[in-house]
Amino acid sequence: MVTADGAVKPCCYALGQLGNLHDATPEEIWNGRAAIELRSFIKTDKIHPICAGAPCKFVQNMQSMALTATGAHDATEPDGSGDGPI
Ligand code: SF4
Repeated sequence: MVTADGAVKPCCYALGQLGNLHDATPEEIWNGRAAIELRSFIKTDKIHPICAGAPCKFVQNMQSMALTATGAHDATEPDGSGDGPI
């Protein structure tokens, strides 16, 4: 998506940006280091810094799985699943 100030983001949830249309073409941004890294991270089930803290299902599920794996999961739901409303 593109914001009013030209920032290119992978989606409306992402807090970071891939580039800015005032500084680069869409092709340069698509083929840029940040976009290539982001696609690679998602393909390998890792959270890219651009997506860190985003309230999307992918990030929330990956963070929940990481907490469960380390035993640090805060089971606030009655079933202990960690599945919140988002
Ligand atoms: S992982 Fe989440 S924040 Fe990142 S691009 Fe996908 S939906 Fe957006």
